[in-house]
Amino acid sequence: MSASEVIARNLNEIRLAIEAACERAGRPAGSVQLIAVTKYAELDWVRALVALGEFQLGESRPQQMCRRAEELSGDVRWHMIGHVQRNKVDMVIPVAELVHSVDSLRLLRKIEGSAAAVGRRPGLLLEVNVSGEDSKDGFDPVELSTHWQEILDLQHADIRGLMTMAPRVDDPEFARPFFRKLRVFRDELADRSDGRLELPELSMGMSGDFEAGIEEGATLVRLGSRIFEGLNRGDQ
Ligand SMILES: *Cc1c(COP(=O)(O)O)cnc(C)c1O
Repeated sequence: MSASEVIARNLNEIRLAIEAACERAGRPAGSVQLIAVTKYAELDWVRALVALGEFQLGESRPQQMCRRAEELSGDVRWHMIGHVQRNKVDMVIPVAELVHSVDSLRLLRKIEGSAAAVGRRPGLLLEVNVSGEDSKDGFDPVELSTHWQEILDLQHADIRGLMTMAPRVDDPEFARPFFRKLRVFRDELADRSDGRLELPELSMGMSGDFEAGIEEGATLVRLGSRIFEGLNRGDQ
């Protein structure tokens, strides 16, 4: 099988799994958007993915996202899903459709300034470390809660929701409570927003746990390895 055929088969299985999870959760199938994470994929595979009609692509490194944005033509929408250093913000703002990984107030303030200067406002998700692991990026929920009023007052930051990463383990059921926590936290913040921020988007779920994410309310799932399963680097 060619890389394109492998990817097409994987995408088909993923779409069916997404539909089934939506069905279990009593949600319409169109309420979940797949973000194809291409950080470990060969450029040829990414081209195949785009040719198959997948235009929502995620990268975790600003340089690679910007390089690939130039290499790929067409309707690609870029999702920044990895940590963004403040000195990379000016590179990310003109390219990203949605930044999933806004993980500190300092970064958020920097984006606020750059978005105003460039006159482009990518969507933003605030990354929350709901599991409290030291190794994880993301806002501590208490910190985010404490600064919520200041965040509501930002003029140029287009904040659309929250993102989290569950601890990596084999059993997706282990991820579920963290996803639920993120949804409950989103509801709390939206309640405290005087209608100024509705936070409709929840980015939660990766290859190993996206079904649990959807059942707990994810509107965006970020899948990498599952899409390219069966391919080895160098495959055409
Ligand atoms: C790599 C990555 C993913 C995709 O992980 P897979 O397990 O390969 O699906 C999703 N989200 C983030 C933030 C990532 O860095």
